Amino acid sequence: LVARMRPFGTTIFAEMSALAVRTGSINLGQGFPDTDGPPEMLEAAVEALRGGRNQYPPGPGVPELRAAVSAHQKAHWGLDYDPDSEIVITAGATEAIAAAILALCEAGDEVVCFEPYYDSYAASIALAGAVRRPVTLRPDGDGYAFDEAQLRAAFGPRTRLVLLNSPHNPTGKVFSREELTLIAELCQEFGAVAVTDEVYEHLVYDGLAHVPIATLPGMRERTVQISSAGKTFSCTGWKVGWACGPASLVSAVLRVKQFLTYVNAGPLQPAVAVALGLGSSYVDRVRASLESKRDRLCAGLSSAGFTVLKPGGTYFVTVALDSSTDGVEYCRSLPERCGVVAVPTQVFYDNVDQGRHLIRFAFCKRDDVLDEAVRRLQLLE
Ligand code: PMP
Ligand code: GLN
Repeated sequence: LVARMRPFGTTIFAEMSALAVRTGSINLGQGFPDTDGPPEMLEAAVEALRGGRNQYPPGPGVPELRAAVSAHQKAHWGLDYDPDSEIVITAGATEAIAAAILALCEAGDEVVCFEPYYDSYAASIALAGAVRRPVTLRPDGDGYAFDEAQLRAAFGPRTRLVLLNSPHNPTGKVFSREELTLIAELCQEFGAVAVTDEVYEHLVYDGLAHVPIATLPGMRERTVQISSAGKTFSCTGWKVGWACGPASLVSAVLRVKQFLTYVNAGPLQPAVAVALGLGSSYVDRVRASLESKRDRLCAGLSSAGFTVLKPGGTYFVTVALDSSTDGVEYCRSLPERCGVVAVPTQVFYDNVDQGRHLIRFAFCKRDDVLDEAVRRLQLLE
């Protein structure tokens, strides 16, 4: 194995899901829903499979999906992207993020990102030979905040990208317009491109607004905006994602994507186009359902004695254990102690001490599953 990949072992998601299977535990670790997405989307996939759409789709993605992504960006965020030159379909957001980093970073370039960060970021940055410059999100009240001085200090002459995930996994933080404005100003001051991971764009609660940084002044032309179908349409196994941005940036992403996967998910792409066409009534229902699940799990965890950091968005809630407790050890023993799996978020930090005692539970599960998990956690000593 090449040196730059040696620090990366098995992902925590694979480890914890395997532990859940082995111990027969309730898996609130890896974030995937336990119910299916819209029946119209599933039917459209079956039709495409039976209807002979099983060969290579076009490189940038099937035209109806690019058109549907374009219409979605316009309807929800007021952003105009030309489906022919400014949108590319990818193998999930993960491939879009990797392709963007590989396409835009020379070896030694720096990528500003917020820790704890989604685990593929560090690996993709390492594959590109780039360097991550983490800015820490710290528990603050019942949410998370970053220090402006630390953010400024992370920028410098080698800054090439800012990798921004809002709503943020694992913290559930929804970045405010003020925070995004500060990040946008720094991007412009240092000539950096924003690569945004917006897979939880529709999963925001308490009336909060998701603000794509591409909508801020001067940012559309320097942003690669990335999302995917997995979360919004409960199909995490389909791996259909997209990147939108000015043609100069999107063509760079496509150049790399051609040689990572060439194309992907032929028959699933038209089905995701159908799902995107369902519009806000579907999205609003998903949001309402997940908001109530968030409340259910947060209340349950509090009743079991946990200190809950209430998320504004995503599938996840983090809890702060006693400051002397190690989250990895805790999560490794939790299945045997009570039959529930969670994920230690310290593995998503460079500054591990900042997150040693934090663990994450997913609430994208049926209510009866959440209730049973809480019942088990309440029995913990
Ligand atoms: N980014 C974040 C923040 C995620 O939580 C996930 C997990 N699903 C992904 C990217 C990956 O998305 P996809 O499955 O579309 O590749
Ligand atoms: N995004 C999901 C999570 O954070 C899982 C992704 C994965 O397994 N790689 O739980």
